[in-house]
Amino acid sequence: MNWITRWKKIGIKVKQIFKKQPLGQEASDWKNCPKCQKISYKPDLFNNSYICECSYHFDLPPKLRLESLFDSSYEIIEASENINPDPLNFEVKDGAREGYKYIDKVKKYRKITKQQTALICASGKVSNLSAVVVCFNPKFGAGRFGPAENEHFLKAANFAVQKKVDIWVVVYQSSGIDVHTGVTGLAGMTKSVIAMNEIKKNNIPTFCVAARATAGGTYASSFFMHDFIIIESKCVENLLFSGKRVTANILKGTDQIPDDFGTAPGVMKSGLADITLESRKELKDTISKLAKIILKVDDLKTKKVDEAHENPEDFKKTASTAS
Ligand SMILES: [Zn+2]
Repeated sequence: MNWITRWKKIGIKVKQIFKKQPLGQEASDWKNCPKCQKISYKPDLFNNSYICECSYHFDLPPKLRLESLFDSSYEIIEASENINPDPLNFEVKDGAREGYKYIDKVKKYRKITKQQTALICASGKVSNLSAVVVCFNPKFGAGRFGPAENEHFLKAANFAVQKKVDIWVVVYQSSGIDVHTGVTGLAGMTKSVIAMNEIKKNNIPTFCVAARATAGGTYASSFFMHDFIIIESKCVENLLFSGKRVTANILKGTDQIPDDFGTAPGVMKSGLADITLESRKELKDTISKLAKIILKVDDLKTKKVDEAHENPEDFKKTASTAS
C-alpha cells in the first residue's frame, strides 16, 4: 500500500464518521428556506402544509400527502413481499470512492422511511369519489423506480381496475429508473405504461401531480400517460428527461437551452402540462372538480357514480361523452 492509497482510505473513513452524525436540518426543529433563507419553526411549517411564507414548497412527507388528499381514513395497498429489489447483487468495490453493496442502501432506505418500496399506495375517498393514490417518497433513494416499485405500481393499478375506482392519482417525485437494477429496472417503463393503459381502458380518469423533480425513465413513461398533468407549485423544477449538463453535452453547448428548462413555467410554455397551481392547498379541490366534471357528478349526486359502476355500459357512455 503506497502513501496515496493510505490517504484515500483515511479520507473514506473520515467521510463514514461524518455520515453517522445526525443531519443538521433533520434533527433540528427549524428549517432553512433555500429560496428566501428564512428559518422557519417546523410545527409552523406543518400547519401551513410545509409551505414557506415566500411560497416555497418544501417536500411534503407522503403520509401527510395522503392525509391531505383523502377525506378521512384510507387503506394502504402493501407492496408484494417476494420481489427482489437488487436482482443484480450490485456492488461497488472500494476504489477512488467509497465502496458499497446496493442491498445495504435499500435496507437503509427501508429503515428510514418504514416503507418496502419508494412508493406508498393507498385507497379511500377523495371528495366522496373512490380513489387510488400513489405517492413517491424522495427519502427512499430519491424516489427511484426499480423492480420492487414496478410491482407495487402494478398492484395498485390492478386494485384500481378491479374495484373500478372513480379516480387514479400519482404524485411524482422521482429521480428515474433505478440504475443499479439494469434492464429489470428499465422494464418498469413498459410495465407502468401497460398499467396506465389498463386503467384508461376502464375509463378511470387519471391525474399526474408533479410535486418536485421528476426525471429519466419515470418522466419518459407513465408521467405523460395521464389525462391531466398538474404541477403543484411554481417552484417545481427539474421536470426533464436529462439534466442541463447532459443535455448541453448532447447539443454541444448551453446556448440552445432556455433558462426555464425543466421548470414549471418552462414546462407549461412547452405545452407539456395542463395547469400550475399557486399552492398545494388547491390540489384536492382541483382534482375533485375536474373529476366531477368528467364523471358528470356533483356533490349532491355522488350516488350517480355508484349507479354507473353497477351498470358498466351506462358508465362507459357517460365517460365517452365526457371525453
Ligand atoms: Zn422562503
